[in-house]
Amino acid sequence: MNKPNLIIRIHNYNKVSLGAILGACPPALLNHFNLTPWISSEAMPAEALMSRSLIIYSVMLPQIQQVQKELDMLRQNGAIAETMVGGSQPTAAPESIAELGFDYVVAGEAEDFFPQFLGDWLANKARKGLHTTARGKVNLDLYPGFSELVGYLPPIEISRGCKFGCMFCGVPRLHSGTLRHRSLTSIEAIVKEYFRIKPTRKRVKFLASNAFAYGSDGRQPNLAALKDLLSMLKNIGVPEIHLGSFPSEVRPDFVTPEVMELVAPYLSNKTIVMGVQTGSDNMLKKMNRGHNREHSVRAISLLRQHGFQPHIDFIIGNPDETEDDQFELVDFMDEMLEKYQVRIHMHTFVPLPATPWENKLQSPINEQVKQRLRALERAGVLDGWWENHIGYFRTAQG
Ligand code: SF4
Repeated sequence: MNKPNLIIRIHNYNKVSLGAILGACPPALLNHFNLTPWISSEAMPAEALMSRSLIIYSVMLPQIQQVQKELDMLRQNGAIAETMVGGSQPTAAPESIAELGFDYVVAGEAEDFFPQFLGDWLANKARKGLHTTARGKVNLDLYPGFSELVGYLPPIEISRGCKFGCMFCGVPRLHSGTLRHRSLTSIEAIVKEYFRIKPTRKRVKFLASNAFAYGSDGRQPNLAALKDLLSMLKNIGVPEIHLGSFPSEVRPDFVTPEVMELVAPYLSNKTIVMGVQTGSDNMLKKMNRGHNREHSVRAISLLRQHGFQPHIDFIIGNPDETEDDQFELVDFMDEMLEKYQVRIHMHTFVPLPATPWENKLQSPINEQVKQRLRALERAGVLDGWWENHIGYFRTAQG
């Protein structure tokens, strides 16, 4: 008898999340399927026309329209495969996805859920509609976080969640305020597997909301845990350890003299990405950042002293942001550029779902401030999509 088809809808933007859920499935379960990767702009696979087929998607906010068009195209072309979707957008705003016409929607972390779901689907027992998983519960050590089926070995997720509560950020709510760490044993096993799969690999990167919080309670660094992590990586012969660079940035209050002395000798990355967000103490309080401008300056200075290029995230257009706050921000940037030759990664505030500011509007950006940001862009010291996001607002569906 023919096996049912599992069609994996792969794009560059969803390889990490698809790898995480497929990696969570035991090989014996996946062996029940004919596995069909459907990659980027490839034509719809013939398996989509067969009745015992399931197409799995993982979707983020910017891809909603593209996915809607693709679902319409599938139906117009006679596809009768069932469809399932998960990912950050269904998790943050399931109502925005429900209307697109997927048969199955999962909101939340899906590593525990997905293998169970596939088993139910094989047995014709899967319930259609929305499935909401418990938040902040997945034990990272139970899953490798990647699957060779998607053709990508992602940065290793060493921590998930965050104990802070920045108003613009969805991470704390999506993970119920938890911070979970992957154990050293699990990280070591994944690194060794990466080198087995690709022996010529040099660089290992990590994924965390705050890389220097590894092994900590999320409020202050755990030097011993950081040391154990880095020395383990060195001892097993990782040629290039990248920590604190994208996609694992750091918070200013975790960039302490002790942390920098500890990590600097181990790291191969020349850049450290740090969220500073604004230059005004007033605005930092409104954002509920949990650190002040002084922490930011000290951290930037320390990064420089230890030979790193600080790449600093800032957000402008925040709710209740005054023109004074905005001028204070660009003055602060100028000061940091002059003293520490930082690079700036600029964002305009976007009201993301599942954040305390999800229903807030952008504050208009003063014209002179815009001119100064553009000048920094032209000078090659500022990057980011900040101008594309001016005027962005979230619709009831988005
Ligand atoms: S911005 Fe960073 S520190 Fe703030 S809540 Fe989000 S993950 Fe945590």
